Amino acid sequence: MENFDVAVIGGGPGGYVAAIRAAQLGNKTVLIEKDKVGGTCLNRGCIPTKALLHSAEVYQKMLYADKLGLSAENISFDYSKIAARKDDIVNRLISGVQGLLRAHKVTLLNGNAVLAGNTLINVGDMQVQADKIILATGSVPSGISVKGIETSGVMNSDGVLSLTQLPDSAVIIGGGVIGMEIASLFNALGKAVTVIEMLPSILTGMDEQICSTMTRVLEKKGIQIYTNAKVTEIKKGLSVVFEIDGKQSEVQGAVCVVAVGRRPATAHIGLEEAGIKMEHGCVLVDEYMRTTVPNIYAIGDITGKIQLAHAASAQGLIAAHNAGGQNKRMSYDIIPSCIYTSPEIASVGLTEAQARAKSIYFKTGTFNVAANGRSMIIGAKDGFAKVVTDAATGEILGAQIMAPHATDMISEIAAIMKSEGTIEELSDTIHPHPTISEIIMEAAHDVHGLCCHKTDLV
Ligand code: NAD
Repeated sequence: MENFDVAVIGGGPGGYVAAIRAAQLGNKTVLIEKDKVGGTCLNRGCIPTKALLHSAEVYQKMLYADKLGLSAENISFDYSKIAARKDDIVNRLISGVQGLLRAHKVTLLNGNAVLAGNTLINVGDMQVQADKIILATGSVPSGISVKGIETSGVMNSDGVLSLTQLPDSAVIIGGGVIGMEIASLFNALGKAVTVIEMLPSILTGMDEQICSTMTRVLEKKGIQIYTNAKVTEIKKGLSVVFEIDGKQSEVQGAVCVVAVGRRPATAHIGLEEAGIKMEHGCVLVDEYMRTTVPNIYAIGDITGKIQLAHAASAQGLIAAHNAGGQNKRMSYDIIPSCIYTSPEIASVGLTEAQARAKSIYFKTGTFNVAANGRSMIIGAKDGFAKVVTDAATGEILGAQIMAPHATDMISEIAAIMKSEGTIEELSDTIHPHPTISEIIMEAAHDVHGLCCHKTDLV
């Protein structure tokens, strides 16, 4: 049995970052991972999806080369090569994480970890002792119980990411983040896509204007979207049967992708044996990332807070510091979220609807992508930036962007919010011209009705 100061179970973006930070703080640290380091994000999530989406985006751009005065003929793709490039990126990043762990002298143990008490962990035949334990086992795709769910051709996002050939059509159950990113991938590569969502809108939780604009944009690209739809059966062949207002319809697809959320991976890791309390299927943690067992922390998707890689990493850093005796608190107020549709979507802080629900007296400012010079240069016209501010104090409560590079640009607003800047600071920040980021400054000016370039209402 080997003794450690800190043991981290699960090597995703929460766990490996926590392990590195624990080691940086001078702790003898072990990271136990049953699969490959990098977790869902690197192996079956963020990275592979975005690699595939990048190929699809470039393919789309090539199809419209003539609009740029270029000529490109016989444009086609070989999906097996797109998938191979995705695998190469994933593998290189896995090696990178392994290298980082080595460089920080974190012991990487490959095996299935099960808690055997509050300081003991069984890993196969071995036992590891650690004064502090950080749980970071992540999440797994949720399923639905519907007749025919076992039909061949029905898969979750893991299945989609392991395809080496792209089927000609897909029916996607669930119009959330995963569903819409997969829909965008298939659509951009010229495949027929139908999305079946049970709620009244796709991308529920996002700004309502973004949801409606994105629905319109995707429908114009040919994606068929059904909302308020209840899937009742999946037939061989493949055919998905669903009901809207009691009326039954059926839609065909070569594959059916189930993207209805993810649930915490809490089974068989000895939580009960260690006396760790759960709530709604998630590990109960306080703002210090402590579980109900004082020396055991939990981070990432198992905590059921925000299922985002960067949120898990932030929690991981907090847990590592606190395991080392500090008292850092996790705050969930300013965590950007990004959706890699085309155009991209990014959001931070409160939406208008959330501000309204909190009875905050707020003001908004908006600016359209179509009125931005750089957007015209790159051929983008859909989308906008919106800033939500406290009407009395000018505090930036949140912002939503649907635009090219929205996912990169949202950090600017997060940084101003974090440093407690107001709408004045954002308005007065001189943005370079010509850039798409100017839509943020223009939206900020619009909060006070002082936008120089606004000709229309969003
Ligand atoms: P989600 O919760 O975002 O969306 C699931 C959708 O499925 C919801 O809209 C829900 O109403 C719908 N749904 C549920 N059951 C249904 C049914 N029986 N029939 C039809 N629709 C049904 O979950 P997700 O898209 O699976 O993503 C899981 C998590 O991973 C999310 O928290 C997401 O934020 C995260 N994620 C993030 C990114 C990113 O940051 N770009 C990418 C992928 C996933």
